[in-house]
Amino acid sequence: MEQFINELNEAQRAPVLHKEGPLMVIAGAGSGKTRVLTYRIAYLMDQGVDPFNILALTFTNKAAREMKHRIAEIAGKSETKNLWMGTFHSIFARLLRYDGDKLGFPSNFTIYDTQDSQRLIASIIKEMGLDKDIYKYKQIQNRISSYKNSLITVKAYFQNQDLVEADAMAKRPRTGEIYKEYVDRCFKAGAMDFDDLLLRTNELLTRFPEVLMKYQERFRYILVDEYQDTNHSQYLIVKALADRYHNICVVGDDAQSIYSFRGANISNILNFQKDYDDAAMYRLEQNYRSTKNIVNAANTIIANNKNQLEKVVWTANDDGPKIKIHRSVTDAEEGRFVASTVFEEKMRSQRPDSDFAVLYRTNSQSRAIEDALRKKDIPYRIYGGLSFYQRKEIKDVLSYLRLIINPKDEEALKRVINFPARGIGQTTVDRLTVAANHYGRSIFEVMQNLDKIDLKINSGTKRKLEDFVNMIKSFQIMNQTSDAFTLAEHVARKTGMLLEFKKDGTPEGIARMENIEELLNGIKDFVEGQKELADEQGDLSTFLEDVALATDLDKDTGDDDRVALMTIHLAKGLEFPFVFIVGMEEDLFPSAMSMNTRSELEEERRLFYVALTRAEEQAYLTYTQNRYRWGKLIDSEPSRFLEEIDEQYVEQLTPVDTYKYKSFIDKNIFGEVDKSRLRQEKPRNGAPPSGNQPTQNQLRKLRKLKPELSTPVGNAAAADTNLEVGTRVNHSRFGRGEVLLIEGVGNDKKAEIRFEKGDIKKLLLRFAKLEIL
Ligand code: ATP
Ligand code: MG
Repeated sequence: MEQFINELNEAQRAPVLHKEGPLMVIAGAGSGKTRVLTYRIAYLMDQGVDPFNILALTFTNKAAREMKHRIAEIAGKSETKNLWMGTFHSIFARLLRYDGDKLGFPSNFTIYDTQDSQRLIASIIKEMGLDKDIYKYKQIQNRISSYKNSLITVKAYFQNQDLVEADAMAKRPRTGEIYKEYVDRCFKAGAMDFDDLLLRTNELLTRFPEVLMKYQERFRYILVDEYQDTNHSQYLIVKALADRYHNICVVGDDAQSIYSFRGANISNILNFQKDYDDAAMYRLEQNYRSTKNIVNAANTIIANNKNQLEKVVWTANDDGPKIKIHRSVTDAEEGRFVASTVFEEKMRSQRPDSDFAVLYRTNSQSRAIEDALRKKDIPYRIYGGLSFYQRKEIKDVLSYLRLIINPKDEEALKRVINFPARGIGQTTVDRLTVAANHYGRSIFEVMQNLDKIDLKINSGTKRKLEDFVNMIKSFQIMNQTSDAFTLAEHVARKTGMLLEFKKDGTPEGIARMENIEELLNGIKDFVEGQKELADEQGDLSTFLEDVALATDLDKDTGDDDRVALMTIHLAKGLEFPFVFIVGMEEDLFPSAMSMNTRSELEEERRLFYVALTRAEEQAYLTYTQNRYRWGKLIDSEPSRFLEEIDEQYVEQLTPVDTYKYKSFIDKNIFGEVDKSRLRQEKPRNGAPPSGNQPTQNQLRKLRKLKPELSTPVGNAAAADTNLEVGTRVNHSRFGRGEVLLIEGVGNDKKAEIRFEKGDIKKLLLRFAKLEIL
């Protein structure tokens, strides 16, 4: 124990050794917040706190596993098993398995993933006879999700005139009815979606004081990592559970709050001291992760945000190499740069592939990177995107397994009732659905009572339905005696699914079959793992829950020496020796959707801060001049974030020249780009930094000039080009204001203006007729 306390610096030791009562650690990236949390748990256990009484909430299940592992090293393995540690969703799913019956849910409830929710909503929209172009199921699902995360139940929705009116104004007056039907159907199917896991936990803790008390007693010590990204619903759960003992320890960094679009609320951090007036505050300042260059550069970036708590971050690590900035002509070339740099670095310093990560703003950017890595035979793994468990054939097998556990599961049933084809048509399924809704029962229950209800289904079809019911029942019987693997293998064969793909014989069919085999291997591993742990829960339903809540980051494939590709959002909390941040371009990063308000822009900047601070030794920032987006080749310009890094920390790998701006002139004066000139001026791939390369300051000046250089001919010439950030203007209707942001060129040039009356508006200059004051 002594020795492990020595693995902490003094500032870290204080929160680890903190006795009872609330505490908060707010500190910058890489300063050891997660380490403090881990060691504090070990310390509590060493002090005699029963691990049964500790609850730790993490950002991924993988992080929880790693923390458990470390705690086991310090405090011993057998004790550690009893810790409740995991993501909000996995922990509260578990809690609901125990006590969800009080809300009328079976303990074997299904967890609907986003795809299941969307399918159900789409089918409700259809059943209600609504126009699917107006009621877009994805949008509706998003709305329902955000209601739930703000704890707006169906009842609360209908009582809130503003919400009802907002949906009516958006020409979707029946959104509330869809919401209601969706909730009813989930309930009837014995299913919860991801948001329900939090919403229903809140409901349970509010409506049943005895349940709340039970868990307050049980979780006497609560610890939360990445506290800045908890949403309102999560916040309330934590607050309720901690209300009795106040032994709550949260760690976070307001500068890394990147989930406000999902309702994460940074005011949780700010309110902590209000909620617990005896809260102890700790700060950590020393970064152990990154070089001086990276730490200092990150500090200069985040300093541009107005809304932040003051913090110091420094490091005793080496200066390290400067941050390298690379420009390419296309995204394909950007990919090649990444791949060849990884290759060279591996050769030069014998690094494993897993030392490298490529981070991007949006998933679609991965393709060009993947192509390049493949060509160089560099193994990589993509996190995020379509997860293995969401592939069609995998979901089909899983749906059978879900039905065995919970035959009311409507989405699972609809997926497989006629797959592989067994002659049960859509009309039959529709009739069954109508009857189920009519009687307030599940489809499976209706199918078991076909003799009692006249559904106008012919006897042939009736027999097929009965066969299906009997098959599922036989699986259920088998489930009582077999382990999950034996059962799953039996199901894959018996249902004819394996045969179906084998017969198919096409490469896709074979790939599908292989995927099913991989799934079966995964189940086998799971069963073995559970046996080893001597955990009684090594059954099918535990496996299904693991699957439903697994994020991509959680998967251990045992083959982990690969370059990691992921979005910045996913990379939170992680660290890699080499980090590439690609697509450093305006409208991509910061994203075009985030430039409407200062707070959105600040969130993008925090995202950049998160990205850069993942790097331990070397960071590369890359951007391209042209990029395919939405099927079109578009011009792109370097991200403003590049200029925000103090130039002493960066090295330009490619000359920063005026090429881009010239191409603007060409385009605007001659109507189209003179392609021969473009080719001539294209920088050579990997050209060494030229002697007369402009400095960041020159670049900055150049960008200021750009609006004039690119003044277009034609009607947009009327647009005022002297506007810049900070210019004071007068608008005939909105009055006086100040320019916050300028974007776009020519006819599309827009300015964001904060008017003295309080509004912030984005105006197209072509129409705005602004008077400069
Ligand atoms: P983030 O904000 O990115 O989540 P964090 O504050 O949680 O970062 P950690 O991940 O806990 O930081 O620590 C960053 C790195 O520094 C880890 O590799 C950790 O093991 C190491 N580290 C932290 N504290 C110490 C210490 N006192 N001595 C040595 N290494 C340390
Ligand atoms: Mg951390």
